[in-house]
Amino acid sequence: MIDDDRPDLLSFTPTELRSAVEEHFRSRGQPGYRTDQVERWIYEGLARSPSEMTDLPAEEREALDRAFRIAEPETAMVQVSEDGTVKHLWRLADGELVESVLIPTQRRLTLCISSQAGCAMGCTFCATGWGGFDRQLTAGEIVGQYRASRRWADENDHGPISNIVYMGMGEPLSNRKAVHPSLTILNQGYGVGARRITVSTVGVVPGIIELAERPEQFRLALSLHAPDSELRGSLIPLEKRHPLPELVEALERFEEAGGKRITFEYTMIDGVNDALELIGPLAQLAERVDAFVNLIPFNPIPYQDWGPSSPVRINAFADGLSARGVAVAVRETRGRDIDAACGQLRGHTLVQIEKGATPT
Ligand code: SF4
Repeated sequence: MIDDDRPDLLSFTPTELRSAVEEHFRSRGQPGYRTDQVERWIYEGLARSPSEMTDLPAEEREALDRAFRIAEPETAMVQVSEDGTVKHLWRLADGELVESVLIPTQRRLTLCISSQAGCAMGCTFCATGWGGFDRQLTAGEIVGQYRASRRWADENDHGPISNIVYMGMGEPLSNRKAVHPSLTILNQGYGVGARRITVSTVGVVPGIIELAERPEQFRLALSLHAPDSELRGSLIPLEKRHPLPELVEALERFEEAGGKRITFEYTMIDGVNDALELIGPLAQLAERVDAFVNLIPFNPIPYQDWGPSSPVRINAFADGLSARGVAVAVRETRGRDIDAACGQLRGHTLVQIEKGATPT
């Protein structure tokens, strides 16, 4: 981490920010409305530094800068795919690199953000998993990806970000200390509706239960990829710690919490998890927790010689689920030409850095 002990305004929840900034201005004999001004600059103006807060007196901007930092990530690289998908590689204050992806569709602009630098889960189908774990992100570093992406989208005529998914690098529910406040900040501070924010997990049971207990209706996406314990164990090492039956019970609690939508993500890997006999067990799991199933063709990674299931097989899966009454969609893989699969841009960039190339 960096040698800067000023608290990061981006890591505060709106309530914490209000109280810290109020206290700061009170100690300087400043009027109460100064706090409103700072709030507006943070949540609406997306200010990156107190120097941008032009309606504060110069000495108050300087005093604010001495007391707090605003640790938004810097752009290390940006790539725009032929299909419009935009991948950012962000450099954090200590030089660590993380990715986020903007995915435009006809009616939405979805931002996929990272919650950890690297990941300790070791899922065998995932580039980030093979790269290992570096460190947890702070709430401010998670929120910072949203602010910087929103600014980029504004400046490049992509319109407002409508949805946020925690599906980038890392397992969000293994970094709950930062992810919980980041959800509060995005929802209450930046005004992103809870139903427009999805937290993705490979099955961290205590985290699913905590999310179920929150009053907001954040969505949950379970990276399932296998409907039985044996196959799941070969893809997701977490099966040993949180086996499928325990996981399904946690999902039931989430579903019973009311109005909270669950999605199953099922990456279809040729010859690995696409046998037609798996349709029945997958449908049963989906029915138990009323989950919507997304079938996603596997995006090849450098560490495995696996390929995606054929379109014929994916459609047969979709038809089989649908015939059993399960709501299902086949998702296209976005941004293939720019390595938009989880962890790949960072992975390739680290390789380039090791070889001596300098990303922008
Ligand atoms: S799929 Fe998610 S949890 Fe698994 S290794 Fe990749 S980033 Fe980590």
